[in-house]
Amino acid sequence: MNKLEIPNIDTITNTVKRIRNKELRVVDLIKEHLERAHSVNSDTNAFITIIDSALDRALELDLKIQNGDTDLENKSLLGIPFTVKDLYMVDGIRTTFGSKYMSDFIAVYTSTVVQKCLDQGGILIAKANCDPWGFGSSGENSGYGATKHPLDLERTPGGSSSGSASGLLSGVGFFSLGTDTGGSVRLPASFTGLLGLKPTYGRNSRYGIGAMASSFDTPGFFTRNLEDMALLESIMAGKDINDATTSETETINYLDSLNKIEESELKNITFGVAPEFFIDGLNPEIKEAIDLKIKELKDKGFKIKDISLPSSKYALACYYVLVPSEISSNRARYDGVRYGPIESDNYEENLSEGRSKYFEEEVKRRIMIGTFALSKGYSDQYYKRASLVREKIKNEFKNAFKDVDVIISPVSPTTAFKIGEKINDPIQMYLVDIFTVTANLAGIPAISLPLGVDSKGLPIGIQLMANMFNEDTLFKASKVILNN
Ligand code: GLN
Repeated sequence: MNKLEIPNIDTITNTVKRIRNKELRVVDLIKEHLERAHSVNSDTNAFITIIDSALDRALELDLKIQNGDTDLENKSLLGIPFTVKDLYMVDGIRTTFGSKYMSDFIAVYTSTVVQKCLDQGGILIAKANCDPWGFGSSGENSGYGATKHPLDLERTPGGSSSGSASGLLSGVGFFSLGTDTGGSVRLPASFTGLLGLKPTYGRNSRYGIGAMASSFDTPGFFTRNLEDMALLESIMAGKDINDATTSETETINYLDSLNKIEESELKNITFGVAPEFFIDGLNPEIKEAIDLKIKELKDKGFKIKDISLPSSKYALACYYVLVPSEISSNRARYDGVRYGPIESDNYEENLSEGRSKYFEEEVKRRIMIGTFALSKGYSDQYYKRASLVREKIKNEFKNAFKDVDVIISPVSPTTAFKIGEKINDPIQMYLVDIFTVTANLAGIPAISLPLGVDSKGLPIGIQLMANMFNEDTLFKASKVILNN
């Protein structure tokens, strides 16, 4: 089995301290991570674009640090290298959205959440490979080739944020931004043993991110530890005037809150377990690991309650009607005029030739499903019914959160599978999302945490879901899971 060396990397806060104390030069750190990005990329194909000019930014920062620039005092990501899924637009940088259709597109502005990281002193070093616009569960639909898993190069690291997870696990950057429309951060996090957060819908701005399904898309990210995650969500969360769906709900410093909580207070968290998430088809080793964790928590006096979310069994079907519908309408902008390659002087010819030639198979499939589900005579049967089911799911979760604070479930029915294993069977591929899509339908925050490995040494993930805008509770419950 071909695998890569996984380096040990410190927390963001500790590293920023070393930079501030001049124990570590930003330029050395960025050089190290850029070199690693180039070297792992030949094995994993995790990156579409590596931004070598990041070194210039590092030099500028070092100079400012040398000069004792007071502007840098509160920058919590000072000199920290990071990567983003190639769905995030960054001014002046090629942004392909994982599709050949957009292979030479240079973004003209920067997405809000990326800008927030840059404003805190973070340095962007690479754009990560992914399924086109996020359509996929394994990264294999990417127009730029499949991403490989650092622990076994024959396997997928999970998708659609495949390059983000693969790159971070192999030691590139301190965090990576992904997007989660139906599990694309949580699934690869579970396959790679990283932490992956899908915040509440509307908590983090979608401005400047290639749209997949606008009422589901959630900017999330991967980290190596919980502390980094709480720090980053404190930076990213909040209202954005450029995204009308972002919420005014107050944001807090999640890291402070996590650090301050007493052990005894953690005992007040009630965990819920719903049978709908422990169904046939769930890999027995994953089930065993989660059962064991629940038992350990019970033995230590944590509160565990049985709950029921009966409509969850319709979640996957409902998702695969609503999401392709939104996908198909969001593709309208790719018409060869506003975006896309020029294949002909004739508008219609250009539209159809460009799309036929450069859209990946899965992009075409989703447009077809969505167009069908929205078409006259069928939209009542499909789109409208699925919307009603979505409401039902939302309400069931709302009620469940009257009794429990977080819900425990698996992230995925399997651990990382082999590249090629499911790619020719879209239904098998869609089934991978069975435990993650529910949180996107409901709009609630969810996290994937590492929970050991299976008999092949492949990481297993556990999912926690909390009520709308309860990221704080989610992090605290994560602390319980990781420390007990
Ligand atoms: N795998 C899911 C899909 O293909 C989720 C994708 C995502 O979250 N971007 O739709």
